[in-house]
Amino acid sequence: MLHHIAIIGSGPSGLFCADALLKQRPELKIDVFDRLPTPFGLVRFGVAPDHQGTKAVTRQFDRLFGSSNLRFVGNIAVGQDLPLARLAEHYDAIVLALGAHADRPLGIPGEDLPGRYGSMAFVGWYNGHPDYYGLNPLLDRTGVAVIGVGNVAVDIVRVPGKTPAEMAASDICAHAAKAIAAAPLTDLYLIGRRGPAEASFTSAELAELGRLERVRPVVNKADLPNALPAGIDPAEAKIKEKNLQLLHEFAARSDAKPIKLHFLFHSVPEAVLGKSRVEGLKLANRTLDVGTVISAIGYRTAVHGDLPQPDQHGIIPNQDGKVADGLYVVGWAKRGPSGTIPTNRAEAKMVADRILADFANDTAPAKSGNAALDAWLAQQGLTPVDWMGWKRIEAAEIKAARQGSPREKLVDWAALRQAALSSETVS
Ligand code: NAP
Repeated sequence: MLHHIAIIGSGPSGLFCADALLKQRPELKIDVFDRLPTPFGLVRFGVAPDHQGTKAVTRQFDRLFGSSNLRFVGNIAVGQDLPLARLAEHYDAIVLALGAHADRPLGIPGEDLPGRYGSMAFVGWYNGHPDYYGLNPLLDRTGVAVIGVGNVAVDIVRVPGKTPAEMAASDICAHAAKAIAAAPLTDLYLIGRRGPAEASFTSAELAELGRLERVRPVVNKADLPNALPAGIDPAEAKIKEKNLQLLHEFAARSDAKPIKLHFLFHSVPEAVLGKSRVEGLKLANRTLDVGTVISAIGYRTAVHGDLPQPDQHGIIPNQDGKVADGLYVVGWAKRGPSGTIPTNRAEAKMVADRILADFANDTAPAKSGNAALDAWLAQQGLTPVDWMGWKRIEAAEIKAARQGSPREKLVDWAALRQAALSSETVS
């Protein structure tokens, strides 16, 4: 029986799932929908612009889209433009690969003041997400505080901390590079509510902070235990030990650099201060003189329209990836916002296996797939961006790249759609 599958979201978890399905059943017809006219989700908008090696996974996805049985259907918001219920009429299985797009709230006074941003918005700004490129964050004071000590927080201090030369080979958007170059930064703060042994950043990312040209990490030796406390998960002990060693090295440094990166542990944020904008950050143990506060404290899955609602943990309730008959979930929407890109590969394969096992037991006739759906989209005046449309965007971005950089992203919805739907031919 020829089955049709819709995957909602073209980030790593969705595309790893498509890959696992097609490896086992190359004849399956799979449509990957995305609200954006561009594929790759977190790889394009989450991964730091100076971590181009991490973005290289897109080459594998490029090859995947070489299959004529896999379609990209961008610029269509399932749940909003296209109700899930209608999609279910046409596809035998639907996989929610929605990621986690909403910033978790801090829940402290002052968090709505101008100058306080969530990591989704701030990262989206420098990575050219069409919803956030216009954020224009306040970066006009010498101090910037970043709340959270995970890898996203590390990205958020490293990117503005780097010099233009250090960012030359990155794909940071021109508007963000310009704003960062003009910012009078002297003090960055990385704020952990618990101790260094509980910080969730990983050693390679932490070590990078020690190699920046104009930034010196500043760590108070008194905050650092000499050894890991008892009870650390053995699976994490090696990374934590390395982290501790790096933090001890940072504490011993006294080199002079224009920007200090202060690691503050055991510092619980109590209030963002200011009347009409951020003027400071009150921690339980001190007050920081900062004009910008960015919280990097994790994400929640956000859904629109008739997509299933996330639970109180921000994930879509599921049993090993199955939400309901014919409906599955993968990635951060399934398990919460943790893990690196490769974490999703094995997990997406498990969900793919489950879908195929369910197909094997299913006696219902297969559904019609995309032909009827395409007609419905056209009736609604909706214009999907297909793989060639994305390739036109990509070609325009490569053409606009400054020297040394892989691309200059198109950042607003109109420019993206215009490039995608132009008649330009691309190879
Ligand atoms: P994360 O690792 O879960 O870190 C979240 C941080 O926020 C933790 O330090 C947490 O502290 C803190 N936090 C949570 N609620 C808080 C609150 N109310 N007040 C103060 N602090 C609070 O999440 P993430 O940094 O967003 O990263 C998400 C995933 O992406 C992770 O698996 C990460 O490794 C991965 N990632 C990887 C890379 C890379 O490999 N280069 C880059 C970026 C992201 P507690 O521990 O005390 O809760």
